[in-house]
Amino acid sequence: MVIRERLRKVREYLADERGDALLVTNAANVRYLSGFSGSWGVLYISEEYAELITDGRYIKQAEEETKDWPGEIHIVAQGETLSKRILGLAPKKLGVEKSITLEVYTKLVDTLNDTKVFPVEGWIENMRMVKADEEIVKIREAIRAAEKAFETAFNIVSPGCSEFEIAAELEYQMRKLFGATPAFDTIVAVGERAAMPHAVPSSRTWQNGELLLVDMGAVMHGYHSDFTRVILSGELNSEVYRVIDAVEEALISAIDGVKPGVRASQLDGVARGVLEDRGLAQYFTHSLGHGVGLEIHEGPTLSPSADLELKEGMVFTIEPGVYIPDEVGVRLEEMVLLTPQGAEVLTSLPRRIEV
Ligand code: ZN
Ligand code: ZN
Repeated sequence: MVIRERLRKVREYLADERGDALLVTNAANVRYLSGFSGSWGVLYISEEYAELITDGRYIKQAEEETKDWPGEIHIVAQGETLSKRILGLAPKKLGVEKSITLEVYTKLVDTLNDTKVFPVEGWIENMRMVKADEEIVKIREAIRAAEKAFETAFNIVSPGCSEFEIAAELEYQMRKLFGATPAFDTIVAVGERAAMPHAVPSSRTWQNGELLLVDMGAVMHGYHSDFTRVILSGELNSEVYRVIDAVEEALISAIDGVKPGVRASQLDGVARGVLEDRGLAQYFTHSLGHGVGLEIHEGPTLSPSADLELKEGMVFTIEPGVYIPDEVGVRLEEMVLLTPQGAEVLTSLPRRIEV
C-alpha cells in the first residue's frame, strides 16, 4: 500500500516536529498522497485523522481517484471556507507548506487564533524524488507517448514547415494517439534560434542545411516525460557537427557517471568538464538536469551547487547544451532511472536524426 506508507512517513515528520497536523496545498503533493487530481483540493493530515477537502465540482472524481486514500473526503458546503473547516478540526500546531499562497495563509492565521502555524518545506518533495515502481510505469508511458508522437509527426512535417507548424503537429499527435497533454509548451527552434534554450516557436521555416531542435514531453496519468533531439536536414556547417559531438560526449560521460551515491554536482561537473576541454563550457548556461515525475521540474536538481546524493529509484534528465548566441544551439536530453547498476536510459529515440 504505497499511499499508506507515504502517510506514515508524513506522520513521522509531524511527530519529529511535534506538530498536530499538516495542511497539504501543493497540487502535486495532494495527488501523490491521495490520488486526487482536481484543480482544487487540500489534505489535512493529523496523527489519527486525514481528510481530503475539495468542492462540489469534484464529488465523483474525488471518490473515483482516492480508492487507496484511507482518509475521509470533505466537500466544502456553500459558504464554508477552508479556514473555517480547519478551525473546526482544531489543530494546536499546524504545518503549512511553504508554497501556500499568501492569501490562503493570511486567512488561516486570521481565523485560527489558538493554532500555532509553522512552515514545512521539502517533506513530500523529498519523498517524491525516489519513485515507486508504479510511478516508473507511468513515466515510461509518458515517454512512449511523446516518442510515438515525435515519430508520427516527423513522417508528416519536413523542411519548409514553420516552427509553430511542427510544434502543433507534435502536440496534436500526443493528444490524438494517446489523449496525452504536452508536459510543457513544446520547444521547436531552427538554426541559430536554437541558441535560446527556451525558444518559443515562431513562423520561421526550417530550411535544408539547418538544424532543428525539439524539446518535448507528454503527461500520462499525471506523470511527465521530457527529452530533446536535434534533426538535421541535409549537409550542415562543420561547426554545428563539432558542437553536436561535444554535447553528445558530455551527455554520454554524465550518463556513465550515474551510480548510487554520486553527488548531483559531481555529474554536472563531469558534463561541464567535457565541454571545458572543447572550449565550450562558457556556452553551457544552465544546470545539467532535473527530476521528473508529477511535475516537469522537481527534485533532484543536477547543478554545480547541488550537494545531494543521488539514490536508486530517482528519475531525472541529463541535458547538456551549448548555446553560441546568433550562431548555433544544441541540447541533447535523455531521461534516466538510477538503478543499482547505474543509469538506465528510459528515452530511446536516436539523438540526432538526419533527414
Ligand atoms: Zn526538455
Ligand atoms: Zn528538461
